[in-house]
Amino acid sequence: MSDPNVLLPVQQNWSCHNCGGCCREHQINLSEDEKQRIEKQNWTVAQGVPGDRPLIVPLGAGWRLNHQDDGACVFLDSGGLCRIHTRFGEPAKPLACRLYPYAIHPAGNGLTVSLRFSCPSVVSSLGTRVTAQREQLQSLCREVVPADFRNAELPVLANRRSVSWDELRVLMAFLERGLADRSLPFQERLLQTLAWFQFLEQVDGEMLQENNLSEVMTILVEAARRACDAGGYGTLPPSRTGRMMFRQLIAQLLRHDTQRSVLEGWKHRLRMLTSGLRFTSGRGLVPPLDDPASVRTAFGESAAGPHQPVSFAAVEAFGRELPGETDELFERYFHVKLQGNHFFGRAFYDYSLLDGFRTLALMFPATLWTARLRALQAGRDRLLADDVRAALAILDHNLGYSPVLQLRSSRSRIRQLAVMQQIERLCFHYGGE
Ligand code: SF4
Repeated sequence: MSDPNVLLPVQQNWSCHNCGGCCREHQINLSEDEKQRIEKQNWTVAQGVPGDRPLIVPLGAGWRLNHQDDGACVFLDSGGLCRIHTRFGEPAKPLACRLYPYAIHPAGNGLTVSLRFSCPSVVSSLGTRVTAQREQLQSLCREVVPADFRNAELPVLANRRSVSWDELRVLMAFLERGLADRSLPFQERLLQTLAWFQFLEQVDGEMLQENNLSEVMTILVEAARRACDAGGYGTLPPSRTGRMMFRQLIAQLLRHDTQRSVLEGWKHRLRMLTSGLRFTSGRGLVPPLDDPASVRTAFGESAAGPHQPVSFAAVEAFGRELPGETDELFERYFHVKLQGNHFFGRAFYDYSLLDGFRTLALMFPATLWTARLRALQAGRDRLLADDVRAALAILDHNLGYSPVLQLRSSRSRIRQLAVMQQIERLCFHYGGE
């Protein structure tokens, strides 16, 4: 069978810059073949790997790569390079290492590629254009994607109503156009697209017949534009409950669970519980949380230095001016996640399109809240572009991957925030002047 068509994000660059972050943050599971291949590579202490522990350890019924004392993969050298890659080349590495930061998802008869913004080179769009890496990505798709990917479940719009892949393409085309409209600040574009979805949810199933999604969307886009032009849409401040739920979401997104922290057992769990309670109350000081290694390496002292204590009140009182690069960053982020089908279905806790998009929309205020916190921790009263990039890298590490966000309570929080119309207010309140 010929290779399926693979859709790639056109606005994104990426090459690995060897910060070593992913080699410190991720657990690398191995297939039996990969285990045997690494064992045949005959690693010895003379080649730099640790001699006091096995390189591969059991994980459930399978295997994983072991870690050094500082949490780094046993094959990571002091220069941030992978020893397997250095000795045997990229194809000799486990598939999970070769895939990151890419994520491949079904899209009807074809496939689509997204990226994880937890990699600092992705968040800063450094390196080769993704569209120039088609051959390598097509080869990865052949390894990763099961032969029956065309049978993947259809996306669910909301309330268990599924849409065809063609309808999804129609919807995505509207969203992409709306979010790329540079005549408006990104915040306004986001508010308008949220309004479309709010109206779409209210459209009767009968009215939304096969093949007329485009007509319905055209009407909703115009209605949303008028609602936003008339003012008031999302411009009220978030309620106390809305803010509390928002901080709970941020606490979950800020969690930093690594192999090392998991081994700490109850101490780590207690720290996370205490931190969650502090975020829920929103009073006193924001609890200190470790940054992922990639963020410390890529964004330097503001992340790595000793943080100044910051109160929740100070984050709230922070000025609303945003760095000029903010719109470009979020436009690119949404482009990558939307065209990559990286916000619903199997790739995203089995969320519907509406709930997934609302969760993605909340990344906008959540990132800007976290960027404020980082600026204050570094003793600044203005945001730098790197505060926003670092915050997005931290939060996107968990989005779609942390099991905490899969909990029923996390899902129902998104629904409640939507019902109370708090998502628009949060996007407006934290999204600039
Ligand atoms: S986090 Fe990104 S830049 Fe850093 S080592 Fe991993 S892939 Fe390379």
